[in-house]
Amino acid sequence: MGNMMTMPLTITSIMRHAQQVFGHVDLVSVNLDLSRHRYNYSVCFQRAAQLAGALSQAGMKQGDCVATLAWNDHYHLEAYYAISCSGAICHTINPRLHPEQIKCIIRSANDRFLLISADLYATLGRELGKSIPFEKIIVYQSDNTVDGDNSVDYDSFIQGQDIHFPWPNLDENQASGLCYTSGTTGNPKGALYSHRSTVLHSYGMALPDSLNMSLSTKVMPVVPMFHVNAWGIPYSAPMVGSPLVLPGRYMGDGKVLAALIEEEEVTSAAGVPTAWVNLLDQMKNQEDGIKKLRSLKMVAIGGASAPATLVEKIEALGPRVRTAWGMTETSPLGCVNALAHSDTNQVSINDRLKAGRPVYGIEFRIVNDREEELPWNGEASGHLEVRGNWVCRQYYHQEADNWDHHGWFNTGDIAKIDTESRIIITDRSKDLIKSGGEWISSIDLENIAASHPDVREAAVIAMPDPKWDERPLLVVTPNTDKDINPAELLEFYQGKVANWWIPDRVVQITDLPHTATGKVDKKVLRAQFEET
Ligand code: ADP
Repeated sequence: MGNMMTMPLTITSIMRHAQQVFGHVDLVSVNLDLSRHRYNYSVCFQRAAQLAGALSQAGMKQGDCVATLAWNDHYHLEAYYAISCSGAICHTINPRLHPEQIKCIIRSANDRFLLISADLYATLGRELGKSIPFEKIIVYQSDNTVDGDNSVDYDSFIQGQDIHFPWPNLDENQASGLCYTSGTTGNPKGALYSHRSTVLHSYGMALPDSLNMSLSTKVMPVVPMFHVNAWGIPYSAPMVGSPLVLPGRYMGDGKVLAALIEEEEVTSAAGVPTAWVNLLDQMKNQEDGIKKLRSLKMVAIGGASAPATLVEKIEALGPRVRTAWGMTETSPLGCVNALAHSDTNQVSINDRLKAGRPVYGIEFRIVNDREEELPWNGEASGHLEVRGNWVCRQYYHQEADNWDHHGWFNTGDIAKIDTESRIIITDRSKDLIKSGGEWISSIDLENIAASHPDVREAAVIAMPDPKWDERPLLVVTPNTDKDINPAELLEFYQGKVANWWIPDRVVQITDLPHTATGKVDKKVLRAQFEET
């Protein structure tokens, strides 16, 4: 055996390190009223200690679940550390889920306390408090307007608490956080992260070919802290001393994002494709865009496939784009498409759009229906399976058959892997279109439509067909006031895909439905067009 020490990999150790080494590093957070709050890691973790003190006085114990319904802001960041480093479980909940789904998730996790943003308290929290017996509801940015015996304003709650807290020694395998999938393809399922998985994932996320986080980067997570821990950025940033810019509840507001990038000199940002579509809407012209995004070096796009035009438009303004793949069950980091030294400037846009190479710490394979492994030749397409240090080995309080006997997790995605080990996601198995016994990739069809100048967003869904089983229906939203010409759009597919892939019909609507995480909601679209 080696002679080296073993230190538990805990989130507390990230906090201690940041407090000692990067205490002076700045954090900017957008308040509900759009003003900007500024402080540093040192004060952030002092307040986390105060919150931990107040929560433990209120009865929070190790292993308890504490729910958060909160945005990307400094209060949520303090709660992340206060809860997990006390040995409790930070259960982040997506406020955009249906209230009944939220109740169901809260009951299943048995959340004892709720931390909630004042705006969400008004629209959701007060009602929730009537049906869920929370012991305490802590409302932030409430201006002390909270009511009810068990509701309290955050700042009043922590007032007077010691800025030092006797953080317990934790087992690195202890649970630290809980997040439910947003149910894009089924009912929400809980992923229960551990301290160890979170720390290892944070290393992976900070790596140069992942998000390249360091002292010299300033990162803005546009991915929500209520879903998969904002890709773990709130842990990686203090680990490496990277300043953070938190857009508060304004993640979907391109104007706020553009102002933050320009004024706070953000260097890297991460989000789903829609976030960047919103941002680009703010640029009056190329010159204006270049000026506004001057500081921005890298934009990571993940959570859904990135259309070519989006990548090209962003890069025309300066920043480099990195596409990435991940999911709730993988914490979420899986693979990232970073350029190799040898392929700078020579890589085709098609290669740039692939989901990228696996990050060390998570293994990938593709298998056929008989669970036989398929070659990495860019041709063979199969079920994408993963395993690794930050991949779930089961769901929280729920049976599922996503794992095989060797511990591989079936992601539900269909993929190819090219000879350079880049993963190409062709579809979610539930979104594939089966036409005449062959599969059509909805992602490919969407990306082609989205590259048409008149199209803002596109989604392709399967429609039942008596002859072919299923046929693709293309649903689009227009880029301008001008209506999209369906015949012209279908003509646009000629030569780009096999003729039998070309959708039968184009429907234009004003807005595509989006899931709680900002992805196109095909479940809703399918239901909407079922009757037609
Ligand atoms: P849900 O959407 O169910 O909440 P997640 O947020 O965990 O779940 O999303 C994971 C899914 O998002 C993946 O299984 C995959 O289908 C899709 N996804 C993530 N990144 C990409 C990508 N780069 N390209 C295509 N699909 C992606």
